Amino acid sequence: MAGEFDFIESLRQRAQNRPGVICGIGDDAALLQFDAGDHCVVSTDTLVAGVHFPLDTAPADIGYKTAAVNLSDLAAMGAQARFCTLALTLPSLDAGYAAALIDGLLELLDSHAVALVGGDTTRGPLSLTLTAIGSLPAGTALTRAGARAGDGVYVSGSLGDAAAGLTLRGAEHAGAEGEHKLARKRLLQRLARPSPRLALGMALRGIAHSCIDVSDGLGADLGHICRASGLAAVLESASLPASRALTTWINDPQQLLALQLAGDDYELCFTVPPEREPALAQIASATHTPITRIGIMAPGEGVHYLDDAGELMAAPARGYEHFR
Ligand code: ADP
Ligand code: MG
Repeated sequence: MAGEFDFIESLRQRAQNRPGVICGIGDDAALLQFDAGDHCVVSTDTLVAGVHFPLDTAPADIGYKTAAVNLSDLAAMGAQARFCTLALTLPSLDAGYAAALIDGLLELLDSHAVALVGGDTTRGPLSLTLTAIGSLPAGTALTRAGARAGDGVYVSGSLGDAAAGLTLRGAEHAGAEGEHKLARKRLLQRLARPSPRLALGMALRGIAHSCIDVSDGLGADLGHICRASGLAAVLESASLPASRALTTWINDPQQLLALQLAGDDYELCFTVPPEREPALAQIASATHTPITRIGIMAPGEGVHYLDDAGELMAAPARGYEHFR
């Protein structure tokens, strides 16, 4: 690929040196050091143009989101994000486009002190595969399997902004004014640049029994905790957190709930035993992350929803699944 060496050299110069990187970009493989007694936590995610983001997405946003969704998986394990590698497939090495992708990617990585330590660059339809590598003290990882009946179910931040942003992208909403204009901008931002909840994930070690990040949709993702833990979850649908930006655009409760369950928010959903629930207020303020109790784990299976009157309601539409 023409210019590949220049491109890799520019990556090498821009990649920050970080503790634990013995050898980064430039050799046959990266060489990384971990503290004694730590476990290494590894996660890979691919974003394909036209599938995971619209083709006209700004390249810096594509790079940013690729990093964000990967670090979100480390957050859900309670890991500290440390390093990553990037397998980049590009139709051509258009200098401006590739540089903007890397700008967005490094903006998020730098804000969490994560080092880009290697990767691969190939020609083909645009796709980005990031492998994120983190660490945590052995035995402290948060998994999907540890929930117990009676645990409170919690979610960070708010739900539905990204899905609303997707529906508001179109030109028919671009003329919105005043409060709606600001809210639309905020929702588009949440779609393009999600915030991985790394500080919260680390703070939940020793507190949460189980944890997952909300990518496919709350029902689908909490469903994984239910299956892995052999339990049901009962959610109060009216307690699901919604941002001011979202409620500025959406009033209808059914429409609101559908968006809140649609996914792509990259918030953390986790379960906490009653005796540890009082610790959460301090964790929320220390990590500057809103936390909302949305339900409880119970014997049984599947995710169930209660309406305002506390009655069981029909399961709302499912989250996004590939190949459905
Ligand atoms: P090799 O033939 O050994 O795979 P490459 O030319 O693919 O070597 O890569 C040279 C160096 O550049 C390696 O250290 C590799 O990790 C790094 N590298 C290549 N592409 C990327 C990329 N997209 N992001 C980060 N590092 C990259
Ligand atoms: Mg290679």
